[in-house]
Amino acid sequence: MTVTDSRTLADRIEDLLPQTQCTKCGYPACRPYAEAVAHGEANYNQCPPGGAEGIARLAALLGKPVIPLNSANGVERPRPLAVIDEQVCIGCTLCMQACPVDAIVGAPKQMHTVIAELCTGCDLCVPPCPVDCIAMPPVTGEATGWDAWSQSQADAARERHNRREARLAREREAAEARAAARRAVSSAPAQVMETGAAATPAAPAADSAEARKRAIIQAALERARQKKEELAAKGQGPQNTERVSADVQAQIDAAEARRRRLGLAADNTAGNSGGNTAGNTEFPPTKR
Ligand code: SF4
Ligand code: SF4
Ligand code: SF4
Repeated sequence: MTVTDSRTLADRIEDLLPQTQCTKCGYPACRPYAEAVAHGEANYNQCPPGGAEGIARLAALLGKPVIPLNSANGVERPRPLAVIDEQVCIGCTLCMQACPVDAIVGAPKQMHTVIAELCTGCDLCVPPCPVDCIAMPPVTGEATGWDAWSQSQADAARERHNRREARLAREREAAEARAAARRAVSSAPAQVMETGAAATPAAPAADSAEARKRAIIQAALERARQKKEELAAKGQGPQNTERVSADVQAQIDAAEARRRRLGLAADNTAGNSGGNTAGNTEFPPTKR
């Protein structure tokens, strides 16, 4: 009996990548890099987290020689872990939006925390932080590349990244559907509005699902509000939310505008509802 491997070359290349989703290869995630290598559009020495061992694995699969890591993509290094200085954090959520594996928890204007076991050390949360309160200390001693990362960690990171991507796609679709429904309602014939027969959108099932979603989000926001009050009572809340500089506020406003354009913050109750935090929803981070 002949056993055929139905996986593509890109699939097999992706299986060998560390899945930190760090973009250091020059692609938005591991999968696009795998596809680029499979199609001959990228070299197989562009992944610093995989390091020399990763290149050797790819070289063996591709039947090519082992070559050095391309220094333009970075260096092989001990794996770092993101650590947030919670006393400086202003709770803007920008790091959470940047994390490719949902390893950060927090809510608007609350301190944010990294779940150490989920952090891939990708560095992507560092640049967006407007107050520079995220450090990336190395946590693997002298070990680098695959010596500092396991296959089970890579598999878990891949799964979390895929789940996140699917959630973001669902949110974009839902935002588009809401916008289409609003357009449809606003362009409904005037006589229908006069009778009152179609004063509500024509999709009760969708409305019901939306109502349930809003109720869940509302409950999550209430939990987040209570937690914030508890932390504030202990003096542990974010310290700087009322003293944000104009520059920082501009960065936050710009990021929020981008989220709105992407349909990820369409209104006050429908944001990253499937995310990993109670308050991972649209927020107005401006000072109130
Ligand atoms: S781990 Fe980073 S550099 Fe390596 S393939 Fe994935 S995204 Fe690219
Ligand atoms: S917490 Fe920061 S470093 Fe860790 S995976 Fe998320 S974005 Fe990357
Ligand atoms: S200030 Fe914003 S980006 Fe920085 S750690 Fe806090 S929530 Fe994340």
